Amino acid sequence: MIDKDHMPDRSLMPRPVPSRRPCLTAVLRMAGLRPTRQRVALAELLFAGQHRHVSAEQLHDEAAAARVNVSLATIYNSLHQFREAGLLREVAIDASRSYFDTDTSDHHHFYIEDEQRVVDIPASSIVIQNLPEPPRGMSITHVDVVVRVKKAR
Ligand SMILES: [Zn+2]
Repeated sequence: MIDKDHMPDRSLMPRPVPSRRPCLTAVLRMAGLRPTRQRVALAELLFAGQHRHVSAEQLHDEAAAARVNVSLATIYNSLHQFREAGLLREVAIDASRSYFDTDTSDHHHFYIEDEQRVVDIPASSIVIQNLPEPPRGMSITHVDVVVRVKKAR
């Protein structure tokens, strides 16, 4: 029997993706990054499971737990290299807080302030109208919406 009250809310769960572990080296090469031992180890932590949003500090903790010996500075550098190579999307919450999204497709985010957590909003849920003309010689790459929420009291 299925206990509905204890079923996880599917809308809040990360979507499954096929494991990319066997081809991470190839993925890094195709993205123009030399597959160093550290990069492959970090890519395994980032991409081996489901799509998710991770901060540099969280990835640093996960690396330590997996006995991958890398400094927080190296984690920052690698995350930004992955982002520049198109493997990650950065979700900037404020000047001191960024999350890195393994799902690079178009979508938006809730930021749950009490939990410091990011949750996906499908692109189709938000209609963006009347965007201004970009500055001359520029084109719009994408529009990120972060909807900030906290527990209603
Ligand atoms: Zn996302």
